[in-house]
Formats: sequence, C-alpha cells, structure tokens
Amino acid sequence: MKGKRRQGRGRSGLARAGLAVWVGWLLIAGGCAAPGGGWDYSDLPGGLGEEPRVRDSRLFDSAPHLVPWEGGLLLFLCRWSGEGPIPVSLPPDADSRELRILREALDAWSTAGLGIHFREVPSEEARLEILFVSRGKGSPRGTGDALADCGIEREEGQVVVRGERVRAEIVWASVHLVRRAEDPLGRWISLEDDELLGAALHELGHALGYSAHPLLGVSIMQRTTDEVRKMGGRVAAGKSLVDPNLEALYSLPSGVIVGEVRLSPEPMRRLARFEAGARRAGLVGPYSRVGDTSARYFYRDAQGTPFALGVRGWPRAISQPAKIIFEANAPAQILLRMDALPESAAP
Ligand SMILES: [Zn+2]
Repeated sequence: MKGKRRQGRGRSGLARAGLAVWVGWLLIAGGCAAPGGGWDYSDLPGGLGEEPRVRDSRLFDSAPHLVPWEGGLLLFLCRWSGEGPIPVSLPPDADSRELRILREALDAWSTAGLGIHFREVPSEEARLEILFVSRGKGSPRGTGDALADCGIEREEGQVVVRGERVRAEIVWASVHLVRRAEDPLGRWISLEDDELLGAALHELGHALGYSAHPLLGVSIMQRTTDEVRKMGGRVAAGKSLVDPNLEALYSLPSGVIVGEVRLSPEPMRRLARFEAGARRAGLVGPYSRVGDTSARYFYRDAQGTPFALGVRGWPRAISQPAKIIFEANAPAQILLRMDALPESAAP
C-alpha cells in the first residue's frame, strides 16, 4: 500500500514531514482536508462537481492526467471505458488459494457499481495483468503496487478534445503483489487471506484509475495497510465492496477536463521537440501515467519501449507551473537529440 506507483517513489523525508504538518494543520483548522490532487470539483464542467456522488467523495485527491495543449497542459481524469469486459490475466505462478482470492477481488470490483467487468484471458491477450513479484530492487515497498496507462486519442496528430473532454481512456494496467510482508519485528510473513485480498482490491483500485490515497474517509484506497486488510476481511465475509472514490470517478466521463496549466517557453520547446521526434519515429501513443508524487507523458515503439517525459512533484507542480521540468528517460533523450528543431520553430 505504500509508495504505490512505480514511478511515484522517492519523496524525501522533508517532503513527507511537510505533508504531515500540512495535513495536521488542515485537520486542526477545519476538520477537513483540501483537495490533494491539484484540482477541485469546481473545475469540472457542466455542474458535474455538484453531483452528490462526486461532491461527497475524495476523488479530488487523485492526480489528473496530462497532455500538451496549445501553450501548456490540459489536465483530465481517465478511467476504463466500461465498454466490454476488461481482459485480465492472473499470475501464471498463482496456486489455487491465490487464484481464489484474486478472483474474489475481481468479483468485488465487478459488483461495486462502477459498470466494469473482467474476463480472464491468457497473459498475451491481457490489458490488465496481475503478477506476483519477489523482493528485490524495484519491488513494492508495501504489499503491492500498480500502474495504469491512459491512452490519448489523436486525429491527424492533434489531441481530440470534444465537449470539455479529451478522448482518452485507460488502455493498459499492471498490478504487482507480494506474497510476504515484513512484520514489526522484521520477520517475513506470508500474507493471510484477508491481507492478500485487501492488497489486491487496493491495487486494482489504482489500476482502475484512482492514482492516490485519499487524505480522509473510509476507502479501500486509503494508505493504511491495517485498514485495507480489515476491508479485505469484510469482502471475504461476503460484504459488498463500496468505494466512494472509484464510484465518483466512474460516474464521470473518461477524459473529462479538470484544468489547464500554462508553461514557460523552455518546457514548451522541449515538448514540441519530443512530439516532433515521436511523430517522425512513428511511435505509438501518446499515453499519460500519474502517481501520487510524479507523472509521465510517453509514447512506445513497436517493441513496447517507453519514450517518456517525466514530471517530478506531480500533482503539487500544478500549482507551481513555472517549476515544471520534463525529464527525458534514455530513449526520449535520444529522440530529443535526433529530432531537435531550431528553437524558433517551436511554439
Ligand atoms: Zn496505494
């Protein structure tokens, strides 16, 4: 449950301490917490933010996705379309107990009122994969992690924006679960049934598009492992899964715009070079992926290699757009070097 998103790790101790103080201050000040995702319900078009399901949730703690748009970035929410079942693959090395628990988790989300369903398929056909991972470099720090890629539609090279919506939906997701977790005495203990079920429900919630951990309220998406385990126990006992934050997300159309950020000329030039390079290289995309401390905007080549620009400090950076810097991964650096445009040609 901790440090969920693969690219979302590495928040400094100072930042953590700052967040704790900030949350503490809000609790003292008003008994509630301001939106943590860099946007607010008043940013939703057409009064959608007034809908009780949205208004009464902590959806606004979840970071928005991003896509370059005119002089900056469009911010939008992304989820699975709900048209047809999501093809999902279960871990090839799962035993019968693990398979039973993972199917319980998928059933619980299928009946949670989101309008989504799953269909088990072989791994090569999956758009949502569930894997067990072992401990080691890059493995989850808690009981699992997850990532979800939002595919953004383009027509003739342009992002498609219609009726306050970016044409976009989650097209691929990956859930990573561990089999053993460290107890307070430093011993590695196998996850009990309710723990594994809670972890699977939580990570699937990220894979369905809720990128954060709500600052308040009861939710399978909360950060505390003990609470998630308790909710896993309730689902195992036959109770329905109810999650106000995922319900709110799935009550809104995928791609709904929640804001716009103006960027300074240098990051805009970098974005323009990146877009031009991706087009010339014939890459597939673009995609957006967000976590609770970073985001990335990327393309893939035919082998699936990501060419990515990362933004650290997302979604906090939304309120300080002058500080937004796009960090290119190694393939993207090559792309930027190969396809550098004269600066005057960039917007
Ligand atoms: Zn999480």
